[in-house]
Amino acid sequence: MTGTLPAEAETVIIGGGIMGLGIAYELARRGRSDVVVLERSYLASGASGRNGGGVRMQWSTEMNIRLMQESIEICRAFASEMGINIWLRQGGYLFLARTEAERARMERNVALQQRCGVPTEMIEPRHIRRIVPELNTDGIVAACYNPRDGIVFPWPFLWGYAARAAELGVSLHLYTAVTAIEHLGPRGFLVHTSKGLVRAERVINAAGAWSPEVARMVGIQLPNYPHRHEILSTEPLKPFLRPMVSVLQSGLYFSQSMRGEIVTGITVPDEARQVRLGSRLLFLELLAREIVRLVPQFAGVKVLRQWAGPYDISPDGHPILGEAPGVPGFYLCCGFVGHGFMMAPVVARYYAEWLCGGPRHPIFDRCTLSRFSGSPIDPEEMIIG
Ligand SMILES: Cc1cc2nc3c(=O)[nH]c(=O)nc-3n(C[C@H](O)[C@H](O)[C@H](O)COP(=O)(O)OP(=O)(O)OC[C@H]3O[C@@H](n4cnc5c(N)ncnc54)[C@H](O)[C@@H]3O)c2cc1C
Repeated sequence: MTGTLPAEAETVIIGGGIMGLGIAYELARRGRSDVVVLERSYLASGASGRNGGGVRMQWSTEMNIRLMQESIEICRAFASEMGINIWLRQGGYLFLARTEAERARMERNVALQQRCGVPTEMIEPRHIRRIVPELNTDGIVAACYNPRDGIVFPWPFLWGYAARAAELGVSLHLYTAVTAIEHLGPRGFLVHTSKGLVRAERVINAAGAWSPEVARMVGIQLPNYPHRHEILSTEPLKPFLRPMVSVLQSGLYFSQSMRGEIVTGITVPDEARQVRLGSRLLFLELLAREIVRLVPQFAGVKVLRQWAGPYDISPDGHPILGEAPGVPGFYLCCGFVGHGFMMAPVVARYYAEWLCGGPRHPIFDRCTLSRFSGSPIDPEEMIIG
């Protein structure tokens, strides 16, 4: 994963998160392994190493529902295909509504999910405790539950992609920051890094919350922006919780890890649009109040670790994909908000398929940068955090 930087490559991928590594692996698997991945820090240093590992089919747009159905199938096959256990547990996702407006939205989404073949069901408040008996359902007006949603352990996912991509010939360079990009017209790009230069026919910007910075290196302005998202894990408790539970109103979510820790986050409003990774007391206060209201037994449980990662917010909740207008050969793969981990397996697969001359999946026509200056698409509503 280190070594001398090659002078040339067909494809340079900027960012060694789940997106960059996923695309690298999928390209190499199709015989296009002349790929250099440039990561300025350690593996899993970005959002991909800091997230909650949730994978779900419960969305408000058909595009996301269908993509995530496929993604979960890829997750299910990941261990056997990649030779690494990602600890996928399909314990479901239980969403809770506190208002009538949320209930109405939930009913619409559940109907759409069912039309797409997802077995999500509306749950009456009096039946919620059949799924999680410990919940205090006071003030909850409705819930929905899909037993096939689940949780993965993010790190082995990255390690699996990185190891298999490297075996197939991809050159992965950690601690190698991209500092400038020269567009050489039809001759491609000269990518300047902290370790030297690489000439590339094609560059893929998979730099997550830092992608606007990278895009500016070729004169492209992106509408996505970083937003700090905090999360914590507690001391281990005796395993009792199968699903991920989430409250729509507050953006609270929590699940229980294989080791028994409660892993939980919540939306904290009014954040600056910068990558900030510090931990705040405000987050702890908001989270403690909301989670203890919902599960009174959590009062007094010790917090072991609190951390933050950058959400990469796109204005309509959908990613920004495809070739950047006016810069042929410069591809975008960013703006995944708080659900990029679960989208990565399927997006990486379709991206590589298209770049290798195969069919172009409709997401590359819908999720363009140009939609923000003319042809908007339906925003995604089921964003948590
Ligand atoms: C707390 C939290 C919880 C989340 N929970 C979930 C969840 O439950 N489910 C889910 O699906 N998603 C979740 N997400 C979102 C998910 O983690 C991201 O959408 C996904 O990891 C994005 O992957 P990425 O590869 O685009 O970005 P990243 O993983 O951030 O990777 C980008 C990489 O680019 C590198 N980079 C940046 N600039 C440069 C440069 N100039 N040169 C070289 N390298 C550079 C960075 O160091 C970084 O490693 C969560 C995110 C957070 C923060």
